[in-house]
Amino acid sequence: MSQRPVFVITGPSGAGKGTLMDRLVARVPGLEVAVSATTRLQRPGEEDGREYWFLSEVDFARRVAAGEFLEHVTYVSGRRYGTLRSEIARILARGHACMLELETRGALTVRDEVPAAVTIFVTAPLQELERRLRARATESDGEIGERLALASRQLEEAGEFDHVVVNDDIDRATEELAALVEQALEPVSP
Ligand code: 5GP
Repeated sequence: MSQRPVFVITGPSGAGKGTLMDRLVARVPGLEVAVSATTRLQRPGEEDGREYWFLSEVDFARRVAAGEFLEHVTYVSGRRYGTLRSEIARILARGHACMLELETRGALTVRDEVPAAVTIFVTAPLQELERRLRARATESDGEIGERLALASRQLEEAGEFDHVVVNDDIDRATEELAALVEQALEPVSP
């Protein structure tokens, strides 16, 4: 029996992954984004259980030890992020297709461990990434610099993934991504 694809969206901070994914979910029936867990601070407007499960360091570490994560990483400023196995199981049990948004190391782990993974690297021109990060301005200058340095390194990894989508224009990139996802969700004819 063929397994339902697990979509993994990755790419640098500021590439517009969140906006693209919102558009995709609104458009593709039965596509659901898994809520990751993190130890980073909650930003204004974010809700526990919607953008992330906001966990304490202690709770995160306990769940790592209990094997509850499919993958987990330590990101900038020592903040931890991870995909809970229970999130994926919950989405698949509803008969939905699952989409994950991960930084590149986590995406590579899922690529290697989940045979049904379809990995998509979303990027934007570097100047555009910087502009978006500064416009968001939720991080300090130092942290923006750290995220940009990471973004340049991540661009070199694009070739590791099944597909690359350049978000130079949001409407065009949405169309490209939707076509990819819809094609992967089409039942394979016998
Ligand atoms: P932010 O702090 O801006 O919400 O996210 C920072 C980075 O963490 C983004 O690149 C995002 O893709 C990544 N991220 C979010 N959730 C997870 C996760 O569960 N696992 C991994 N590996 N990365 C994640």
